Amino acid sequence: MTDQRPSSPTPAHAHELSPRTQVVAAGRPPREPGASLNPPVTFTSTYVADGPINYARVGNPTWTPFEEAVGGLEGGEALLYSSGMAAVAAVLALVPVGGVVVAPAAAYNGVVVSLTEAAGAGRLEVRWVDVGDTAGVRAALPGADLLWLESPTNPLLDVADLAGLTAAAHEVGALVAVDNTFATPLLQRPLEDGADVVVHSATKYLSGHSDVVLGLAVTAADDRGRDLRARLARHRTLGGAIAGPMEAWLALRGLRTLSLRVERACDNAAELARRLADHPRISRVRYPGWGAIVSVEVAGATDGVEEAEALAAGTLIWSNSTSLGGVESQLERRRRQPGEPEAVPVNLVRMSVGVEDVDDLWRDLEQSLAALG
Ligand code: PLP
Repeated sequence: MTDQRPSSPTPAHAHELSPRTQVVAAGRPPREPGASLNPPVTFTSTYVADGPINYARVGNPTWTPFEEAVGGLEGGEALLYSSGMAAVAAVLALVPVGGVVVAPAAAYNGVVVSLTEAAGAGRLEVRWVDVGDTAGVRAALPGADLLWLESPTNPLLDVADLAGLTAAAHEVGALVAVDNTFATPLLQRPLEDGADVVVHSATKYLSGHSDVVLGLAVTAADDRGRDLRARLARHRTLGGAIAGPMEAWLALRGLRTLSLRVERACDNAAELARRLADHPRISRVRYPGWGAIVSVEVAGATDGVEEAEALAAGTLIWSNSTSLGGVESQLERRRRQPGEPEAVPVNLVRMSVGVEDVDDLWRDLEQSLAALG
């Protein structure tokens, strides 16, 4: 008699399930009597010879459930890295020496600084664009090897036409990479828009609790003959930017609540963006109408730097700290960060809206804004 027990969803049919179910159900061990519901953590540096993996820089079974779960959500195949920047470095290494990268002038500063330094060293040519200016990006594409997109951008929250720009980049033979950290695969799936690779700082929403640093590169099933997955995996093995098993396990545990966290945080962000727009100490609210990040410019006597710093320092629930995407609300004046692009206004405070009660978050902002005088 065949075994009729349901098994946990496999990547092959995960796309039939709602993402809300996928985040809970994906990456579970097979349902055997007495089996654990959660995958184990494998702490090892090596394996007995003649198995599928010979050494733990090549692979660790603890990575697999998280990779399968995120790959299923994005509609591709995921590779886990030790940080978002490690995944970024692996993708940028796909570009040949002397190649041309089209990239946003105002994006995550680690990417902007990496590209600036690569260009300065003569390894790459970079054409800086405004991703919200579709015609401008198209005009920069001829001769490009890679179009790097981030949407919404960090921290200006510019939104790119992913499908249109991907098609235009493919017409000139360029690869398209999209940093999907801010959107998460619940709000945007760039591979469905034709992108070749999606990058995540899994440090943010995917793990969601501000307790791990991890990254992912997710490749499309059809990579147009570029062998991207194998090249990215090779970069990870040889570069050594591998995830610790405990971090990988924590990230999968965090992912279980991704839809709850993102839904609540997005609701909170929409409400706070609305209320902030009417506040006299806020001169501009940047919010694309979705997502859980809101950036505000603080009005000031001069350039607003002092007031922006005071707003961030004066909150009691919101923490004045860098990073984003955790359950806890965070805010910071972005130009504090070395390498932050000059296109980012000096008085801009980026707010990563968490899952707390929205009225508590609002009252905390109000009291800190009131203290500006
Ligand atoms: N991409 C974006 C949009 C980010 O905000 C960050 C970090 O803030 C990164 C990539 C880099 O990720 P990590 O800090 O995990 O290396």
